[in-house]
Amino acid sequence: MKQTAAIKLVEITRREEFSASHRLHDPSLSDEENVELYGACNNLYGHGHNYALEVCVRGEVPASGMVMDLNVLQGILAEEVVSKMDHKHLNHDVDFLQGLVTTAENIAIALYELLEPLINEHEGCELSCLRVYESAANFVEYRGASS
Ligand SMILES: [Zn+2]
Repeated sequence: MKQTAAIKLVEITRREEFSASHRLHDPSLSDEENVELYGACNNLYGHGHNYALEVCVRGEVPASGMVMDLNVLQGILAEEVVSKMDHKHLNHDVDFLQGLVTTAENIAIALYELLEPLINEHEGCELSCLRVYESAANFVEYRGASS
């Protein structure tokens, strides 16, 4: 029987939750333009969300049976994301969001770029997808820059 070397890629996902406040405001626009664009989300003193983050890591299943130890992934997310964002004001407290309008889209890109090297340094692992939930109904997904 002929053997074929099929590549079996499996994607694992870790979900974390955190609560944070933010304000959607573009300093290059006037106050009136910001209200027009962002509405209630432009409220001067911000507003809060119960965020969730899902991080998907893809790879082949090695002898250990694990694409990546989910406890290791949990540790990375706890140290690099949750400890820096939970109960914080995203516009003011989070160094890697400075200068960005803190939409879920921009948060997803920033977190992807933060986490990609930390995950991909694990042998055979590749960050494949990251989702930021601003509510149960609203989430964004980022799969990295396309070349
Ligand atoms: Zn908001």
